[in-house]
Amino acid sequence: ITIAVPKETASGERRVALVPSVLKSLDKLGVDVRIQRGAGEAAGFTDDQYEGVTWADKANDLYDGADVILRVQPPSVEEAGKLPEGSIVMGFMTPHEGDSRIRNLCKRKVTSFALELVPRITRAQGIDALSSQANLGGYKCALLAAHLSPKLFPMLTTAAGTVRPARVVVIGAGVAGLQAIATAKRLGAIVEAYDVRSATKEQVESLGGKFIDTGVSAEGEGGYARELTDEEKAKQAEVLAQHIAQADAVVTTAAIPGRPAPKLIDKATVERMKPGAVIVDMAAETGGNCELTEAGKDVEHGGVIIAGPKNIPSMAATHASEMYARNLRNLLDLLIKDGELHLDWDDQVIAESCLTHEGDVRHAPTRERME
Ligand code: NAD
Repeated sequence: ITIAVPKETASGERRVALVPSVLKSLDKLGVDVRIQRGAGEAAGFTDDQYEGVTWADKANDLYDGADVILRVQPPSVEEAGKLPEGSIVMGFMTPHEGDSRIRNLCKRKVTSFALELVPRITRAQGIDALSSQANLGGYKCALLAAHLSPKLFPMLTTAAGTVRPARVVVIGAGVAGLQAIATAKRLGAIVEAYDVRSATKEQVESLGGKFIDTGVSAEGEGGYARELTDEEKAKQAEVLAQHIAQADAVVTTAAIPGRPAPKLIDKATVERMKPGAVIVDMAAETGGNCELTEAGKDVEHGGVIIAGPKNIPSMAATHASEMYARNLRNLLDLLIKDGELHLDWDDQVIAESCLTHEGDVRHAPTRERME
């Protein structure tokens, strides 16, 4: 089996799908590995750290005869149309958009595994790249908030007076939000958090945060949130606005899978905030949790800074790549038996993670959308 690893081409992407430590562990699977020169550079891994691999200068040489392609970002439309026929590609595949890419994957009879579709069951935790990357993202967003704030996060007692700890509000207490809470707490801030899923209350409290009770719960299927009714949204917004108005920094991480990010902070709420307050909107790329967010920019409104960072895990590219590469390695483990590729469609993880196979879109919601 030949495994190929390209240098990521998406703008701003620093991660790589295979790191030297994970490469070593592939020995046991009996695979040949081919890597595009410089693939790991932006993540801090030089070519000479990848021992025993074959090098390719261009993507074309890399893909020729490859059986499995490991990626971070989905292939471009053009690239998808050139992948080796019948090959396997695994990585983030954005199944909710990019229909031309998906059509090209079908044309080339590529079996694509989308990490966004990995079922969130205990057995698949080691493959759950959404979680591994969200975790890093939550950490970075808390740091970004501390960095952009003109105030300090910790309480300081000094000869020059006492500094009061910052008040941080985290909205959305999933994987990213919980890490943002933990990080802001470690920096010494007073942290309040909110999520529509009431089950998160206990998790927030276990990290030393205070849960904001809006009286609205929206527990959805599979541990995800459902969309709220208009009345619920208004009630939630008013209680949240009161807490946001008092905050020095707000980190928002609210998401609904496959849907635009819920708008939780409107312009009027931003205008109630203190000058110098900061919002870091982790949902910027899917439309933002704040009405004023612009993806990839820091916007200022009435003295409040609203940051909309893009591709946050890429900011911690070394560790993000390490964790991501382990996720892929664990998926490879399920597909390779005795040195042969073996796709067991009775395995829930394999069946549900597969986006395209033998010319068909296997993921039902994507197929229905594209029809
Ligand atoms: P996500 O990135 O899809 O969403 C982030 C958070 O936003 C979620 O907690 C969601 O409830 C929240 N949210 C949505 N709408 C909101 C709104 N209007 N207001 C406030 N918050 C809102 O979710 P995620 O972090 O990837 O995962 C969510 C949860 O799924 C995890 O916390 C965990 O409990 C569960 N999970 C389970 C497994 C597993 O069992 N293997 C793996 C990963 C996650």
